Amino acid sequence: MEKRILGRTNFEISAIGFGGIPIQRVDEETAYELIAEAYNQGINFIDTARGYMESESLLGYALEKFGRDKFILATKSMARTYDGVLEELNTSLKNLRTDYIDLFQFHNVRTKEDLDIVMGENGALKAIKEYQKKGIIKEIGITSHSVDLLNIAIDTGEFSTIQYPYNPVENQGEPVFKKARENNIGVIVMKPLAGGAIPKGELCLRYILENKDVTVAIPGMDTVEQIIENTRAGNDMRSLTDEERRDLMAEANTLGDEFCRRCGYCAPCTVGIDIPSQFIMEGYYTRYNLQDWAVSRYEAMDIRAKDCIECGECESRCPYDLPIIEMLKRVERNLGRE
Ligand code: SF4
Ligand code: SF4
Repeated sequence: MEKRILGRTNFEISAIGFGGIPIQRVDEETAYELIAEAYNQGINFIDTARGYMESESLLGYALEKFGRDKFILATKSMARTYDGVLEELNTSLKNLRTDYIDLFQFHNVRTKEDLDIVMGENGALKAIKEYQKKGIIKEIGITSHSVDLLNIAIDTGEFSTIQYPYNPVENQGEPVFKKARENNIGVIVMKPLAGGAIPKGELCLRYILENKDVTVAIPGMDTVEQIIENTRAGNDMRSLTDEERRDLMAEANTLGDEFCRRCGYCAPCTVGIDIPSQFIMEGYYTRYNLQDWAVSRYEAMDIRAKDCIECGECESRCPYDLPIIEMLKRVERNLGRE
């Protein structure tokens, strides 16, 4: 597995890391098997978050059994205040069954105002730096869906890593990745498979790793097969051939700009619609020629796109500013049969 240095942290990490969102769906023993397989395939970097439901607890179980010290472990918190982040950190330590976090990140910082709170007198950064002095936190990073915010964050000099989406349909981060590398800041790529919208996993990851400003891509994985496929990109580093690049771009072009990355930040829906699942079913219908199956799966959902009351709550939370209400209407037009 290709190894890269994560900016000024000096951590030597695998170019493919383990994204911790999907693991929340599995049980403890499966979590252990996944972590063991990830390690066997060369992965030594795990990224999770307080906000990923059971992810931290499942990883904690797996790491205690397999060996915490075999991995560089990153987590993150949405807390912005001094007291708030300490409560979150203590929960993370307990869930992860560890007494230190290698990389603690401020999660999904959206605006300058948000960052000002983090960095203010009663802000979360002050608390995390105190814990860094005690050796409980090794390094501090930041994640965002805003290039502007990350540019500001880099200029503060406070962060050792940034985390931002990157894949063949979302390459707007390239300048900020370059700036990060020039400042010796590690670049962690989230959503490398566009939230699962691009099924050509290995090609997509090779495309990302060709960019030498990128340190690590962290696809979310909850099966051994996914781990084997995704780690192939880091275990057999090759540039894309012209034909592979053409195939990948053709796939990416079918997505357009308005597509759901399955990040889940829009939840909870006021009436209980599982929003990303609506778009996944639509993708099966429109892109994969699985119309009958997609319609039957859609109709089997108790609450679905047609039940949207257009309250707009989800749209205010989507970091990609997707017109979710209109997109759900399109889902119902495609899949609804009533
Ligand atoms: S606008 Fe529709 S989908 Fe969004 S939260 Fe409201 S009811 Fe749910
Ligand atoms: S609709 Fe937006 S917030 Fe919800 S999962 Fe998709 S990209 Fe994320």
